[in-house]
Amino acid sequence: MPIKIEHDKPNCIGCGACAAVCPDFWEMEGDKSHLKGSKDGGPFEGGEELEIKDSDEEKNMEAARSCPVNVIHLKAKDGKQLI
Ligand code: SF4
Repeated sequence: MPIKIEHDKPNCIGCGACAAVCPDFWEMEGDKSHLKGSKDGGPFEGGEELEIKDSDEEKNMEAARSCPVNVIHLKAKDGKQLI
């Protein structure tokens, strides 16, 4: 079941932790991180979102856990908030 990543980009403080922990999906773009392959949108104004496979959940959970301001969220297809 695909999982959705939601990035509250305007509140990213650009610490670089997500890109360090999970470079397959996260990179720095100026003073913000960017979720590779994402489209603009999602529940956060100015945010990004991307659907990923189950097999990519854990590395993105690590990125989310590494975020000091909790602006990376993962949601299951049924809408359950994973982080
Ligand atoms: S870990 Fe959080 S605050 Fe740091 S760059 Fe990534 S999204 Fe931004």
